[in-house]
Amino acid sequence: MTTIDRPNTAIIGAGIAGLACARALQDAGHPVTLFEKARGPGGRMASRHLGTATVDLGAQYFSVRDEAFQGEVEQWVAAGVVATWPTSHYRVVGNAWQAHSDQAQRYVGMPRMSAVTRHLARGLSLVTETRISRLAEEADGWWLSDPEGMEHGPFDRVVISIPAPQAQALVEPHDTTLASACRPLAQHPCWAAWVRFDAPLPAMPGVAPGWQAATLNDGPLRFVARNDHKPGRERQGESLTLLARTDWSEAQYDASADWVAEQLLAAFFAALPDGTHLPLPVATGAHRWRYAHPASHGDTRSHDYRTTASGLALCGDGWRGPRVEDAWLSGHHLGQSLTGSQP
Ligand SMILES: Cc1cc2nc3c(=O)[nH]c(=O)nc-3n(C[C@H](O)[C@H](O)[C@H](O)COP(=O)(O)OP(=O)(O)OC[C@H]3O[C@@H](n4cnc5c(N)ncnc54)[C@H](O)[C@@H]3O)c2cc1C
Repeated sequence: MTTIDRPNTAIIGAGIAGLACARALQDAGHPVTLFEKARGPGGRMASRHLGTATVDLGAQYFSVRDEAFQGEVEQWVAAGVVATWPTSHYRVVGNAWQAHSDQAQRYVGMPRMSAVTRHLARGLSLVTETRISRLAEEADGWWLSDPEGMEHGPFDRVVISIPAPQAQALVEPHDTTLASACRPLAQHPCWAAWVRFDAPLPAMPGVAPGWQAATLNDGPLRFVARNDHKPGRERQGESLTLLARTDWSEAQYDASADWVAEQLLAAFFAALPDGTHLPLPVATGAHRWRYAHPASHGDTRSHDYRTTASGLALCGDGWRGPRVEDAWLSGHHLGQSLTGSQP
């Protein structure tokens, strides 16, 4: 039931920002409903099943800088949904592999990245496979419509936690100031390819046999992750996620997924030490993230969400920075502000 001090909130988008906001609201006793266009929560922390293997298609790991996020991640570790990774990381120039360590602790979802967002979504009211295409402000509150003509509402408040270019289209008819704030927050695309092999990768001279991740400095590829070398996936069979550079992804934006997968696999092969032979790929593919990484986020850390008197609010990575941590903090801070508990 809606009361004046416990307004009923709709959240559009069940990525990590929307979920962090929802948890802050629900934990303070506020009614909240999430609407997500995909089949499940996760957004850019999505994972995909490929037979027995699970590949992470978006974020590959995340780091922790902020104290509040550290406390949250400790709870995820205790719940068994994240673990530290990678512990064996290489930098590759040409085809020379150099072990890399900056001592920073990084984490990954266990047994897949989307385990984190599934964990956060537990106990929340989540409407999936529902893309919100229009908002209407009526006398009884906000109503949300989907393309099938279904109306959802009324709500006292609407939190929009989707990438800013998409949020802009939803808020434009209602608040031009908010729409203008979204305009500079462009997002770069990223192609993410995957490949599953019929056998483990061979040993490579000078490289630890259990290497987990590689950052590349030239060519179309920027990062390679061995999914079966992430915690909780040890017996899944060899599979890689291959992330393309931003500029390459922009240049190849309209290419076919099959062609992109072929190019990124060829780039990985070219980066292997001479004489290394890859096993046979049994499945390949690629996903294009249209809105992958904020192109700029300015000095938003002290103001990492937006609210209006009419009951609209915006959060997500674009309002703060390019990482999982930034998205969580943006949603968490907005939730705290809406419950009046922001320090
Ligand atoms: C390839 C890739 C690699 C990355 N690597 C890293 C990394 O290594 N480390 C790191 O920290 N970060 C990384 N990131 C960034 C990180 O994943 C994001 O910053 C973070 O997940 C963004 O979360 P969010 O909740 O703001 O947005 P999103 O995750 O995009 O969530 C928005 C949600 O809204 C839904 N949605 C959109 N429109 C609608 C609509 N109209 N109606 C209903 N639902 C809608 C979407 O389906 C999505 O679930 C990476 C991202 C990508 C794409």
